[in-house]
Amino acid sequence: MRLDGCDAESLFEKYGGLTYDDINLLPGHVSFGLEDVDLGCALTRRVRLQIPIVSSPMDTVTESAMAIGLALLGGIGIIHYNNTVEEQCAHVRRVKRFENGFITDPEVLSPNHSIADVDRIKKEHGYSGIPVTEDGTLNTRLVGIVTNRDIDFEQDRTKRLREVMTTELVTARKGITLQEANRILRESKKGKLPIVDDVGRLVCLVARTDLRKNEDFPLATKGADKQLLAGAAISTRDADRERLAELVKQRVDVVVIDSSQGDSDYQIKMLEFIKVTYPQLDVIAGNVVTRRQCESLIGAGADALRVGMGPGSICITQVTTAVGRAQASAVYHCARYAHEQGVPVIADGGITSSGHICKALALGADTAMLGYLLAGTTEAPGQYFYEGNVRVKRYRGMGSIEAQLEGGEKRYFSQRTSIPVPHGVSGTVVDRGPLTTFIPYLVQGVRDSLQKLGYRHGAALRQALADGELRFEPRSPSAQIEGNVHGLHSFKEPTLPVR
Ligand code: IMP
Repeated sequence: MRLDGCDAESLFEKYGGLTYDDINLLPGHVSFGLEDVDLGCALTRRVRLQIPIVSSPMDTVTESAMAIGLALLGGIGIIHYNNTVEEQCAHVRRVKRFENGFITDPEVLSPNHSIADVDRIKKEHGYSGIPVTEDGTLNTRLVGIVTNRDIDFEQDRTKRLREVMTTELVTARKGITLQEANRILRESKKGKLPIVDDVGRLVCLVARTDLRKNEDFPLATKGADKQLLAGAAISTRDADRERLAELVKQRVDVVVIDSSQGDSDYQIKMLEFIKVTYPQLDVIAGNVVTRRQCESLIGAGADALRVGMGPGSICITQVTTAVGRAQASAVYHCARYAHEQGVPVIADGGITSSGHICKALALGADTAMLGYLLAGTTEAPGQYFYEGNVRVKRYRGMGSIEAQLEGGEKRYFSQRTSIPVPHGVSGTVVDRGPLTTFIPYLVQGVRDSLQKLGYRHGAALRQALADGELRFEPRSPSAQIEGNVHGLHSFKEPTLPVR
């Protein structure tokens, strides 16, 4: 039987630079349920994920909250490096120390602090119920706890905590299960349960407000030590060898060498250095969009490639430098070469829907890296604010002038003293609620796509791509209009319930 559409090779040969929106995937035969679709995938040669979602190392996208949230759901976050080494390490440490339901880096005060210090913490972080230890740090003896009830009606905010704190404490021993801790919290009706070691030193806390959130995360991305996996980015600069050494001390699991043009002497030197110095660490190199770039980086030891130059929502690289490639073409050509070498590929940038993730996978990518889609989630850095009556967060390119002035220029080979060329812009994105709502929604879209195409997992999809069994069709401008909402006088954008 003659198949409809065309295989990927003919499509890209005939039509040149194509974006995700320029193509459609033709359906296959459905013979299994949505729940039978397995989205397990390779991030790098050695690191596997349960869902093909990676967050971008951008200062408005990935810090510890994003990395923890994504790893719990089966993906991974790459902590950005537009910060001090200490700050970046602290984020990695939080991910590695994270235990679901246990707050391992709580705010702690000493008996000599005042009520005003509690007020400050409450204002900054929104919570009260602060444990008090001998010297105000974790891992020293717990001597009390201050809660709203202790200080609500106190006029004198300079009063020391030793005079107001509660000293009759309900605590639990280190090693307790989360279930057991939750039971004690319920029965004691306390707001916080301090967990102490065998000599009474504070180890961590369990909060009543988290009771509802302490769900199970069966897909969590964990290592053999049961800790969540964390990724971190560095630049190609020699100085970042020290940054990397500190990240390795924090047990970072995978490192991204972040550069807008990956095929450079600087990157190759850094890559070779890492492979010799830390052979146990998987390195994601990039960014690349051509076979030749892939060849250079795979030759230097890359364990995965990050593909994309110019498709990012905040990106103006193709405008300022005219260099780049339409993303569907970049993913197809790079993935084809990389897979021959056994190296996984991350489709990075330009993804604005679950459909784009499906197309990236269908073109050979193993995973998708998201900036725009995640920047509006609760776990992204920064506060929400209103533009008109829309709740938004800031999102900026690492090559925007604002980000470059704060360190983002390391991605673009520029020196601080030279004239900064903008590669990105700074803007806002709408509120997308917490990852626990948003990621399952994206993932379900991807499952649905694989089912409609007739493939149970990524490996089958890639095989069909290679065999020419997976069929594509170019999408004319009018086909693009037809494939989206059209003709209505008005309509409501589908929105997710924001929990
Ligand atoms: P998005 O998901 O479409 O917003 O794309 C995010 C990707 O854009 C990142 O993972 C980077 O590869 C890339 N990127 C980040 N900042 C900039 C920039 O300032 N200019 C160009 N590309 C950028």
